[in-house]
Amino acid sequence: MRLHHAFATAAFVSLAASTGGTRAFARASVNCPTFSEHEPDADCAGAAPQRYFGPTIDRIIIRTPLKNVKSGDKISYEWIDPSGNRHYSKSFSIASDAKKRCSWNYIGIKGARAAEKSGVWKVKVSYNGEERCTATFHLLTDLVVVEPGDLPIVITAPHGGTSEVTGVYQRTATCGTLKGDQKTLDVATKIRDEVKALLGRAPYLVAAKFGRKWIDANRSDATDDPEARAYDDPNARPVHAAYHRAVRDAVDAARAKFGKAILVDVHGQSGDGQEETIHRGTRNGQTVTDLVSRCGVAALVGPKSLFGALAQAGYKIFPPPGVAPDKKKENPNYGGGFTVSTYGSHNANGVDAVQMEIGVSLRTDDVKRKKLKKDIAAAVKTFYDAFLKTPCATTDPSRP
Ligand SMILES: [Zn+2]
Repeated sequence: MRLHHAFATAAFVSLAASTGGTRAFARASVNCPTFSEHEPDADCAGAAPQRYFGPTIDRIIIRTPLKNVKSGDKISYEWIDPSGNRHYSKSFSIASDAKKRCSWNYIGIKGARAAEKSGVWKVKVSYNGEERCTATFHLLTDLVVVEPGDLPIVITAPHGGTSEVTGVYQRTATCGTLKGDQKTLDVATKIRDEVKALLGRAPYLVAAKFGRKWIDANRSDATDDPEARAYDDPNARPVHAAYHRAVRDAVDAARAKFGKAILVDVHGQSGDGQEETIHRGTRNGQTVTDLVSRCGVAALVGPKSLFGALAQAGYKIFPPPGVAPDKKKENPNYGGGFTVSTYGSHNANGVDAVQMEIGVSLRTDDVKRKKLKKDIAAAVKTFYDAFLKTPCATTDPSRP
């Protein structure tokens, strides 16, 4: 027997009884609840318990296993936000006697006001007016910036964040890979603003606010190698997944709407003598396979390419513009990481993707950074006008 009590308002509870009957019951027992983003089965299981939730989930469900319940009993949920304020509360009546039931309740996250309340939440569970258990979960919605777009342009920035990921222990990787790319969150955000000002429409933006000490969003979590993996603490998984779900959503949306797009993955490098250089990373042309086959190599290294336009604006670019990727290799340190490899157009579901590694003094000097953001946005517009806005066959004479 399975009963649903649906309410037109924000929440409802499902009471699933494994047995009914008329035997005499002992006092109801209330097991401490667990959380999941998935609906429970009759045993309050069906999906592993979660304590950490990222920003792109639809809802958080609390699941309370009950035993020996009686018709007319009441179970109540009180959701307390990280500031200690009551966010939502609801009581439900048990519909019929049962030896075993699963009670559940939820709050919406994506697009709901709860999404703005990042931190540790508590849910108090009471039975017949008596408080029986308080359960906690971590909502990590303030750790990823996700902005919608209406251009075939996706800006990403995996290393510009500094925020601690609460309750998650730090990575143990060495080799300097715990340091973030200073000011790239600001640069990526401002590129979007400047492009919107230039074109009247905005690029998609996905940027990490979490620090690289906890999660490296430009790495895979599908490896056991501590030097290569995105995080050490499994509790970091929902945040890493949320970042990449947002990138995937932006790429899919841009492909569906425009058929093609450019993804610009914004990074910073601080190599010796490279302080004012911007490096291109495309795995030597691999991650822009579609662009080059569509528009010729000029779309990657010509004066109207993204890096070519930056060279025209006076920036030092490596590899130097005008040279085909098979003639001058990219610096292997900056030549393209997990993001461009995952979302690049060499993948069937990808778009053209470039890693942009900006020299440290261009990012940290306030005057240079202010100019840089405008110059990158202008280069994005030049590229867009030449290779995305119109079919490039008419704009690129080098195309066969
Ligand atoms: Zn980086």
